[in-house]
Amino acid sequence: MQQTLDFSNVPSSVRQFGIYLDGEMKPSQSGKFTVRYSPAHDCPVTEIACAGIDDVDLAVASARKSFDNKVWSGKSGAERAGVLLKAAALIRERQSEIAYWETLETGKPISQTNGEVSGCADMFEYASGLSRTINGESYNNLGEQLFGVVTREPVGVVGLITPWNFPFLILCERVPYILAAGCTIVAKPSEYTSATTLILAEILTSAGLPNGVMNVVTGTGPVVGQALCENRNVDMISFTGSTAVGKNVICASGETNFKKLGLELGGKNPQSVFSDANLHDAADGVAFGMCFNTGQCCVSGSRLLVERDVMGKFTELLKEKLGKVIVGDPLNPSTQMGAITTDAQNTTILSYIEKGEAEGAVMSFGCGEIKTKNGQFVGPVVFENVHPSMSIFRDEIFGPVISVTPFDTAEEAIMLANDTDYGLSASVWSKNVD
Ligand code: NAD
Repeated sequence: MQQTLDFSNVPSSVRQFGIYLDGEMKPSQSGKFTVRYSPAHDCPVTEIACAGIDDVDLAVASARKSFDNKVWSGKSGAERAGVLLKAAALIRERQSEIAYWETLETGKPISQTNGEVSGCADMFEYASGLSRTINGESYNNLGEQLFGVVTREPVGVVGLITPWNFPFLILCERVPYILAAGCTIVAKPSEYTSATTLILAEILTSAGLPNGVMNVVTGTGPVVGQALCENRNVDMISFTGSTAVGKNVICASGETNFKKLGLELGGKNPQSVFSDANLHDAADGVAFGMCFNTGQCCVSGSRLLVERDVMGKFTELLKEKLGKVIVGDPLNPSTQMGAITTDAQNTTILSYIEKGEAEGAVMSFGCGEIKTKNGQFVGPVVFENVHPSMSIFRDEIFGPVISVTPFDTAEEAIMLANDTDYGLSASVWSKNVD
């Protein structure tokens, strides 16, 4: 840990949020809340409403009604663009506030959340343009008596289930496009990081989005998420999260109304370094790829494949870079790696570090857990002598842990890269474009 925690910036009182229904923040039917603690400071920061199945039904009914009434889908692309542009401006206006609550709930560095929120405003601006250009196709090649027209129409009510690792970013990678198309939304954020989804719902109402088009239900996955996936009035589920829960989403949809599904799931991503690469640049990239968001990233580059003749030199360069990474208070603007977001994830990462050692890999950099009075922090860890059969090579650890495996030929690098149950991202460091 390279800095001590500064408690002067944590909120003096807990911020309470309800669920978001028909354009308003309201209490859930149960009237109960769960308290979210900052994973870096161990102090309570938000109170989030515990919604139940009744709340999901109300939110879906609201989204259904506003879709069927065409209060949003009936507007022109230009009118929808106006609302999305106004929302972008309001996100920019409230950037510091959104970034602050995102950092408090996730433990990620404030410099990163500020960057993410700014990127989110940009996505609203981009989507606003798209809402003006939605078009279809015509077929005048069907003979004299026939003319075919294909139009693009909104799917309807979209259930949007998001994870805790990029709560605002993942939300905004979807919401503006769903809205640009004319659909209505019931969002279900992770129970650990709900605040900024609720702030976005408020922003959308202020930007002129009709009531009932954006609803938010907060609570646990097995209750609220499951109910959303099983609800027959939902036409599509956009799910981002673990592969295991993704399978559940498919089953729930199959057992009800065969919703359209968008699934963004886990990853175990290779970063392949060839001996002709600029090794300094590659070491920067690999260090960033494993440390970004404390490795709690679906595209985290957690498997380093490196050409054998530069393996020693490259791993030394990598460790040199990792030694400079600033781990600490996420509210400090100079921090590069913050806290681990959930207790369960902290336990998972530490158990994989133990497993790696037990399976015979050599932990050649880092210590894993950083013991502090408050919060949960894990520093970068490098494992060498990693065989493809080991769990640290195969499983998504979702922490700042990288495994190093050598290769001798490009064919072997490709074989190792593809030797995974996941297929999300990959990077190659080489000057040889062939
Ligand atoms: P998770 O699967 O545990 O939870 C994701 C969301 O699903 C949460 O809102 C959760 O409450 C909800 N959920 C849980 N059980 C449910 C159920 N039975 N029915 C419906 N919803 C349910 O994932 P997480 O731990 O929040 O996030 C980490 C995972 O997300 C990692 O595997 C990561 O790779 C993946 N992820 C993927 C991408 C991508 O774009 N591919 C992006 C970010 C995260």
